[in-house]
Amino acid sequence: MRIPQILKFERKKNLAGQGADQNKSGGKSRNKGAKGHLNIDLAKGENYSEDQSIQGLSELYSPEEVGESHIYDIIDILLDMGKLTPEEHACVRAEQSAKPDSDVETIMLKMGLLTNSPDDILIAKAGLYGQEFVHIEPEKVEKEAFAKLGMDFIRSSCICPIAIEDNVLVAATSEPANVFAIEDAKRQTRMELRVVVCSAKDIAAVCDWFKKQEEKVDYNVDEIISDMTEVEVVQDKEELSEDLEKMAGQSPVIKFVNYLISTAINEGASDIHIEPKDKFTRVRYRIDGVLFEKMQPPLKMHPAIVSRIKIMSNLDISERRLPQDGKISVIVGNRAIDLRVSTLPTNHGEKVVIRILDSKTALRGLEQLGMEPAVMEAFRRQIDLPHGILLVTGPTGSGKSTTLYSALCQMNGNELNISTVEDPVEYELDFCNQVQVSEKIGLDFATALRSLLRQDPDIIMIGEIRDNQTARIAVQAALTGHLVLSTLHTNDAASSITRLVNIGIDSYLIAASLNAALAQRLVRRICPDCKRIYKVPENMRKYVEKAGVKPEELFIGAGCDKCRGSGYAGRIGIYELLVIDDTFRDMINKDSSVSNMRRVFHEIKQPSLFDDGIRKVKRGLTTIEEVLRVTEVYGQNENEVFINEN
Ligand SMILES: [Zn+2]
Repeated sequence: MRIPQILKFERKKNLAGQGADQNKSGGKSRNKGAKGHLNIDLAKGENYSEDQSIQGLSELYSPEEVGESHIYDIIDILLDMGKLTPEEHACVRAEQSAKPDSDVETIMLKMGLLTNSPDDILIAKAGLYGQEFVHIEPEKVEKEAFAKLGMDFIRSSCICPIAIEDNVLVAATSEPANVFAIEDAKRQTRMELRVVVCSAKDIAAVCDWFKKQEEKVDYNVDEIISDMTEVEVVQDKEELSEDLEKMAGQSPVIKFVNYLISTAINEGASDIHIEPKDKFTRVRYRIDGVLFEKMQPPLKMHPAIVSRIKIMSNLDISERRLPQDGKISVIVGNRAIDLRVSTLPTNHGEKVVIRILDSKTALRGLEQLGMEPAVMEAFRRQIDLPHGILLVTGPTGSGKSTTLYSALCQMNGNELNISTVEDPVEYELDFCNQVQVSEKIGLDFATALRSLLRQDPDIIMIGEIRDNQTARIAVQAALTGHLVLSTLHTNDAASSITRLVNIGIDSYLIAASLNAALAQRLVRRICPDCKRIYKVPENMRKYVEKAGVKPEELFIGAGCDKCRGSGYAGRIGIYELLVIDDTFRDMINKDSSVSNMRRVFHEIKQPSLFDDGIRKVKRGLTTIEEVLRVTEVYGQNENEVFINEN
């Protein structure tokens, strides 16, 4: 670490001036550059008591020097460094006298001075405080030193321990003026501190690097698996539960299961599948709707892994011939995540699927769902309606619940009584009354709904309309002045009407109560890290050209480490919104067959799922293959409109 030339400036004089000012301000107000040429950020020292701060300052400043008239500041140093011309220096000085409330850094920024060399300002600051300016390389930071302060503190106060030299902690800061943070670091580490100056960017890089290391350290999967083979396994099919419990409690097994869960969460998986095969156990993660094989631990470990998961989710480890389901709550990276565990006996042993309910990925604002502006506007209007039924349709895993939750989040939970009946309650919303259906005790959708309607509701969300009774109550509720949100398993918006008829609801009631149906699918988003233009294969060209897209303008993900070679990262929704207007109501009353409903939908020229998908293809968000995969081929031209009739 090289000490720059500027250190020869007489720093005590400058510091004395600041010390005097600082003492006056007493650590209570933000006094940035108000008097003299102070540049001390007091905002960060809020937790400090006056006594502590003054005591801290006394160690930094020499009281006998107080009262020196000339105050050096960073622009003087920058002038001496040759980074500012005398003219620029004079300009800044003049501006500063004119506006004593603004600090020199802001003034220089406004004048466009040194904007391309932020390091120079830091070097000048370091000089001002008699400190060394350094560049830190994350790999060279001593782990032991870094661990002296918490990561959050390091990030928020921009002070980062980098080494320990002769019992003195060397800490780099990007805010050398923030004496309170420095004092706080001293107090926390109970060590003497030598402060050096670095850029905020460097500190962020160090934190990121250590965070990555942390994630790696615990989990060397090969090591864990080789450790696991050491675990004593009882091979007998009729193992006793004590043996299983013992096995499951061995640390390599615990480590392995923890690894499975935490990596799945970190990689954004929605499900973990642990399947016993003939010769090995297969572990797969579902990421963005597609399963990826993650690893193949030895088959003899399977009972231990399953038992461990069962213990975590309070299941009966001795029962291995019947399916079971349970729940685990884990904390990963400071957030609580619910896991739903289900076991299923198969010919090679028990298969376990863990569903990850991560509220962070599931609860989104409406604007994050990927609706086109026009669809979004229309959908918002639907949410604001006082009564009627709003349906979201699509197969399992098409993001219906996320859309409904987002819609509920738009509503005013303080002024409205929002109640839900769900199976299961996936995410907890604190502004709603959520009821969990429980068939075991006779609380089915219909029963729960009836009770809920006696509770003066405004908005009712029904997890799914599956049967006649639930559908009837939903219609009744909608017709008696409530807004009902629910989901249906249908392929497109138009066939939701036919589905309701098939469930046994009269067409005239549907016509009277249904406001709108939104069909949706999730398509995978092209990975931004490996996105490139690609040549559309011949068999795809017809779809692309029919949709009016130039085949030369399409993108694809080539596959990279970040996307596990898949070319996709994350998902986005595609939507088809059918708003029931008077024309449509008449049609429902006359003929509610799927084909007729689809024809009318086509005639009113609403963009279909496929059209919406194509818009996203055009914008380079997804690929034509993805859109075809999820939409099934219908709707893109007259001949193919009715292909998908069921
Ligand atoms: Zn990629």
